Amino acid sequence: MSSTGPRISSALVIDDSGYLLDYFTVLLNAVGTYQVKTANNGRQALSILQDHPDIELLLCDINLPEMDGIEFLRHISAQSFAGEIIIVSSEHDRVIGSVIKLAREHELHILGVMKKPATLENLKSILSTSGHRVKSTVRVDNHVFTAEELHQAIGDKQFIAYFQPKVDIRSGKIIGAEALCRWRHPDMGIISPGAFIPCMENNGLIDELTDVMLGESIAFLESMQHSHSYFSVSINMPADYLTRLNFPDELHARVKDAGIRSSSVIIEITESRLIVDYKQALEIMVRLRLKGFGLSIDDFGTGYSSLEQLQNFPFQELKIDQAFVTGAINNLASQAIIESSVNLANKLDMKIVAEGVESRQDWDFVQEQGCDIVQGYFVAKPMSQIEFIAWLEQNKGYFDLGLPEQKKSSQEK
Ligand SMILES: [Mg+2]
Repeated sequence: MSSTGPRISSALVIDDSGYLLDYFTVLLNAVGTYQVKTANNGRQALSILQDHPDIELLLCDINLPEMDGIEFLRHISAQSFAGEIIIVSSEHDRVIGSVIKLAREHELHILGVMKKPATLENLKSILSTSGHRVKSTVRVDNHVFTAEELHQAIGDKQFIAYFQPKVDIRSGKIIGAEALCRWRHPDMGIISPGAFIPCMENNGLIDELTDVMLGESIAFLESMQHSHSYFSVSINMPADYLTRLNFPDELHARVKDAGIRSSSVIIEITESRLIVDYKQALEIMVRLRLKGFGLSIDDFGTGYSSLEQLQNFPFQELKIDQAFVTGAINNLASQAIIESSVNLANKLDMKIVAEGVESRQDWDFVQEQGCDIVQGYFVAKPMSQIEFIAWLEQNKGYFDLGLPEQKKSSQEK
């Protein structure tokens, strides 16, 4: 993959200091951005964005007078801003970490953070990760889908699984994928889950959606089992499945019918959901394990699991939440969380997946920390089944970092 991202042609800088506006304009011009607009407060910035929907990059100070940076992010999310954002701040890492988390909740794409005083090198390094995100997913904000629409869409098989690869960090081997839901809407295009999951939940349709995802994932595994028998698919399990005592049997029957191995199905459970009903959750998980399924704890670091709790659940894999992984090199709090998650996983003999690896820097950092598996835009975006298989073949089963030693080790395999 190229080390420099595509050139950004239009940017907007928001800062209350006139001097910094000039300074950032110079930096952006120096990296080849021709159109740089400036605003010294959030309101002005919002109106510029409304007049210039083609702006690709925002450089945003989070300490602004009147409308602060947080409020501003909420507004641009409502305006469906689809470009990339660089946060500029001299705040503490943990504050910045929370801002990033919040921005992701709003489905905004934070490209990176520039601590003040920012330099040209900072900017270049952050921009080098730009463009790995493909903006093919439509933003459909605040749209309320009716139960009827959703039922119809399920019936018409408009919900499909996209697959995002998981790569072994040492060999580069593409070992599996996480199934992520997309809505192929006849008029609106591909819709990401943030836009329809809340409506699904409100209408009690999550189970049906999970069922679709299970079906798609099993079909995918079925199609792969001759050419890539080692391959696994991870499926996100909603909270209430942890109360469905017959789920392990149902899943086992489906997998058996399809003629695939139970171990090629990994069930991901979000950390914060574990505590809801401990006894039932434990029973279901133990039975899933006994039937040979993989178990993974998802979004790790965002909940409150204690070592004691985790020890009791038979997880084989721990996924560190992307909020801690993306840009970890510039964030001491994230680094501490990654380090302690790795320690914990090692103690409990679990594999560690780093989610949200979006740059070579992220990759190198999590590798140094001892993570085993990588997932994120740096490797690839989630893809449809057809795209995924084409991508896998094109890469001959290995993600090539372009390192001579990796090439060697991948050939050995
Ligand atoms: Mg997941």
